[in-house]
Amino acid sequence: MDARLEAIRDTVLARNPGEAEFHQAVVEVFESLGPVHDRHPEFLEAAILERLCEPERQIIFRVPWTDDAGRVQINRGFRVEFNSALGPYKGGLRFHPSVYLGIVKFLGFEQIFKNALTGMPIGGGKGGSDFDPRGRSDAEVMRFCQSFMTELYRHIGEYTDVPAGDIGVGGREIGYLFGQYKRITNRYESGVLTGKGISWGGSLVRPEATGFGTVIFTQEMLKTRGSSFDGQRVVVSGSGNVAINAIAKAKSLGATVVACSDSSGYVVDEAGIDVALLREVKEVERGRLKDYAERRGGVAYVEGGSVWDVDATVALPCATQNELDGDAAARLVRGGLLAVGEGANMPSTRDAVAVFQDAGLLFGPGKAANAGGVATSALEMQQNASRDSWSFEHTEERLTEIMVGIHHRCASTADEYGQPGNYVLGANIGGFVKVADAMLAQGLI
Ligand code: GLU
Repeated sequence: MDARLEAIRDTVLARNPGEAEFHQAVVEVFESLGPVHDRHPEFLEAAILERLCEPERQIIFRVPWTDDAGRVQINRGFRVEFNSALGPYKGGLRFHPSVYLGIVKFLGFEQIFKNALTGMPIGGGKGGSDFDPRGRSDAEVMRFCQSFMTELYRHIGEYTDVPAGDIGVGGREIGYLFGQYKRITNRYESGVLTGKGISWGGSLVRPEATGFGTVIFTQEMLKTRGSSFDGQRVVVSGSGNVAINAIAKAKSLGATVVACSDSSGYVVDEAGIDVALLREVKEVERGRLKDYAERRGGVAYVEGGSVWDVDATVALPCATQNELDGDAAARLVRGGLLAVGEGANMPSTRDAVAVFQDAGLLFGPGKAANAGGVATSALEMQQNASRDSWSFEHTEERLTEIMVGIHHRCASTADEYGQPGNYVLGANIGGFVKVADAMLAQGLI
């Protein structure tokens, strides 16, 4: 790494002790940015990198609620308003027991670049809680969401900060959060949250957008090698919203998706995952993959283990951060892998990324490949601002245009900097330059 950037990196890491995921995200971006600073010394003079790594505002709050047995429960809530150079802070809320400040900051940091790449007017932010929704009743989830919003409402707004979903936060949670925001503020401010239900200000295609977008981006990468999804053997990790919609889209483009996973195990379905059954089990019944395997019959369910043991030509990691390590990457490469599209945020470890890049295969990093979700959130904000609602076809067309545009921006930036096909470099520089230019123009704030 460039010595000037190394010094800044060390300061940033020392200032944020104990935040391993945030460190990983920062280091990964810094490794791409040396050449930009050769061309733009003004970014160094204005301390753009130091400012970019320090969130504009970080909010940590207590979330008290009562469970169904009447016991008091306490969780911790977070909202990191990272960067507003391009628009209001925008990014999801994650409810998962692993959530702490380091996770929220890594996600918020990635979100800045991702949102810039979409070309939409949105800044970067992220939030969440260590609340574990698993095994909780609807009533408990509602009370938790109401308590969470009772603090969060004072920090958000359609021109300030616009949260959405992430792991553990879907349509149900956004509904409870929106209801409480409306009740406290007495404002029907549709644009304050995205991922809403379709009858109360939501956008068609938003539920599908992250998974669809990941496949569209990966298809664009495959096209550069004269290939496509048609006939590919695909393995997807996860079986949540992103995974299910990635599976559906890959299938519609002619691929066979042979495996997916949840936190207990994975299923290998050589005939191709049955998307309707998977949706029924996961989205309607909130069940487990084991139930899918039992109902489907004739498929292998492997308890524990890694879905990356299954050979594929295209891998779509759609579960969570650092789920795919260097050993798994090497195994996949030996098994004939051609392309990786990250549907999750930072699912590949730094070792895994190095293995993929050394093997010369197509690697689409999450901040580019999974940007379809937040891009469609921005389309939802657009519809809310004009009190309009678009058709599925029109919205999907816009999503496709945006994903093709992101691919183009990453690929052309990589070419411009003499590293054709390096989507990591293209995404990091492409996103960074946009934000840095805006920060420079807006003065020292
Ligand atoms: N949580 C999603 C992401 O990682 C979507 C955020 C949003 O729609 O604001 O990009």
